Amino acid sequence: MGFEKEHIVMLPFMAQGHIIPFLSLAKQIQQSTNFSITIATTPLNIKSLQSTISSASSNHNNIHLAELPFCSSDHDLPPNTETTENLPLSKMINFLVASLSLEPPARRLITDIIKREGRPPLCLISDVFFGWATDLANSLGTVNVSFTTGGAYGTAAYTSIWLNLPHRSASSEYFTVPGFPEHGRFHISQLNPFVRAADGTESWSKFFQPQISGSTKSFGWLCNTVEEIEPLGLDVLRDNLKLPVWCIGPLIPNDALKNSSTLDLKVSRQRAGKEMGSSAEKCLEWLDSQGSNSVIYISFGSQNTISATQMMELAVGLEESGKPFVWVIRPPVGFDLKGEFKAEWLPNGFEERMSKRKQGLLVHNWAPQLEILSHKSTGFFVSHCGWNSVMESLSQGVPIVGWPLAGEQAYNSKMLVEEMGVSVELTRGVQSNIGWKEVKEVIDLVMDESGNGGEMRKNAGEIKKKIRGSIGDNDGDQGKEKGSSVKAMEDFVASLLSKKQDLAKIN
Ligand code: UDP
Repeated sequence: MGFEKEHIVMLPFMAQGHIIPFLSLAKQIQQSTNFSITIATTPLNIKSLQSTISSASSNHNNIHLAELPFCSSDHDLPPNTETTENLPLSKMINFLVASLSLEPPARRLITDIIKREGRPPLCLISDVFFGWATDLANSLGTVNVSFTTGGAYGTAAYTSIWLNLPHRSASSEYFTVPGFPEHGRFHISQLNPFVRAADGTESWSKFFQPQISGSTKSFGWLCNTVEEIEPLGLDVLRDNLKLPVWCIGPLIPNDALKNSSTLDLKVSRQRAGKEMGSSAEKCLEWLDSQGSNSVIYISFGSQNTISATQMMELAVGLEESGKPFVWVIRPPVGFDLKGEFKAEWLPNGFEERMSKRKQGLLVHNWAPQLEILSHKSTGFFVSHCGWNSVMESLSQGVPIVGWPLAGEQAYNSKMLVEEMGVSVELTRGVQSNIGWKEVKEVIDLVMDESGNGGEMRKNAGEIKKKIRGSIGDNDGDQGKEKGSSVKAMEDFVASLLSKKQDLAKIN
């Protein structure tokens, strides 16, 4: 596409699960336009983005970084707290409220851009949590586009629940969420404790309600999903918002979406800027020694963990199942997630026994997730259902065993079970009494290729095809249609350029 050089300013919420997809979105926009993109965030996040961008082999000359001053100790947070990683749950609300302090520096940044370039940026792309960006953009002669790093169903659910608090007026533990069909009711246990307790007057509602409302008044929404895989979620989201929603996912490196993909470790490093030592290579070598679709991969994302009792039961269940597994393990709830892992949290001699028998590999802290999921030996993913993990798993056709823990994860899990048929939910939250027998039962169920397991794998395979089809470009190929995500990106850019002309006429 031959557009004149336009400028987009991105404002991600400060969490790994948000910053990684924002950077991927920047790369995706850059691939289809020659726009220049500035990602504006706090100093420590800029540092880690710098190292991620500079370690990338391809050229990202058009992606710039701008620092927004931020001082966590001004907000009753531990010093140098600039992401949610390792943040105690009790401080999460301080962190959310602290993010509001980015408005004035963001305003200064955009005003400077206007002075320098003689015109406002084409648009802001901001996190749904940054509803303040809508007024900011409008007051500076441009528009705000909200980017949800979640899926359509999960986003429709959490935004509608925050704005309407439907569980408050429910007469039972089941309730209908405005916009969702009556028969697909939600259960109170699917709400995280802060939403469950919300009544519109406490600090969580006071943060989320105005921020989500601000985002519902933006120019439109971008969603990290694929048009064909979430029909219900998209219908609800579009109906509730009354705004365009462009599905431009999956925001996953193209290398992971090729049919013959054996990913190399560079891909994870370029995405997350994480140091992965020899454990990453060891992990893939270990997978090489296992049979096709035989390994259960277990991970609860970048910031969640389970309770000590649950960890013990999960370990016994895995051992009793006799099935091979790779488990990304961190200290249980209540302990420093980055602290040393104590053997007492697992059954006596567990790690050595699993290693000797070649049954299981424990990876401490961080694993090359996308490489693991794209490995032919990986059969199932026991996941907290964070949206990035879901998209990564489905893009590789790997079905899921859900164990949602926080955020909108329980809504994602519900959708994976009820709408996609690619998952079974093992349990929910960190309080549940999950026993090892249930763990073993679910593993037996999903590993049964002639029963439920086979059905879920087949469904996941169909979704994988749709995800990969969405990024297909016609490349001059006669008769081959462009994929839906390619078309959505083109439509998004065309809509922005046409809005810009309208704004120019007014001014
Ligand atoms: N991730 C990883 N290795 C790990 C844990 C997580 O590479 O050991 C990556 C994972 O591939 C995904 C992201 O971190 O891209 C986690 O995002 P998600 O939305 O699944 O969960 P969150 O961490 O935001 O709860």
